[in-house]
Amino acid sequence: MRGKLFIISGPSGSGKSCLVDDIVKESDNFVRSVSVTTRPRRENEIDGCHYHFISEGEFKNLIKEDMLLEWASYAGYLYGTPVKFVEDNLNRGRNVILVIETQGAMQIKSKVKDAFLIFITTTSIDELRRRIEKRGTEPQEEIEKRIKIAQKELESMKYYDCIIVNNNYNESLLNLKKILNA
Ligand code: 5GP
Repeated sequence: MRGKLFIISGPSGSGKSCLVDDIVKESDNFVRSVSVTTRPRRENEIDGCHYHFISEGEFKNLIKEDMLLEWASYAGYLYGTPVKFVEDNLNRGRNVILVIETQGAMQIKSKVKDAFLIFITTTSIDELRRRIEKRGTEPQEEIEKRIKIAQKELESMKYYDCIIVNNNYNESLLNLKKILNA
């Protein structure tokens, strides 16, 4: 049986990546797609693991050759999902999770009718800011960009099939597991 496609979005600082990493670690039924991006690699990131870090020219070639399932521009950089990895895994019966921002999620929603969309957020923008500042991976200017984008992203929440408010990490992890396995 073909696997199912899950889309997970949420503002920067919502905890979506950590939640998905924990799910994938625990279960062989779920794989996380590795995106391509033109954003510079952060110190703690590994090429081919967190992202495939590529140039803008390479990214444009992938678009031209129709090799991306979706793509979007976020805070000045391009991000996209390679279609081959997703298709290969779905065909092998594995469930694929994409952790992507809202513009890309909306492209998938209109293209893949049975994709299931989950939005992860916190109770307030102040809490998002606190979490982004605490992780210390972005300079202040980048944090301000991300907070601005977060405000817009929250407006797209209504298009998702389900929403998780991540106030308590362990509870959110349990909830997400239930939803993915339902
Ligand atoms: P970050 O720079 O923090 O790793 O990611 C910035 C945003 O881009 C996050 O919301 C992340 O989920 C999103 N993102 C990562 N990969 C993709 C992708 O392949 N497509 C789209 N549309 N967004 C992505």
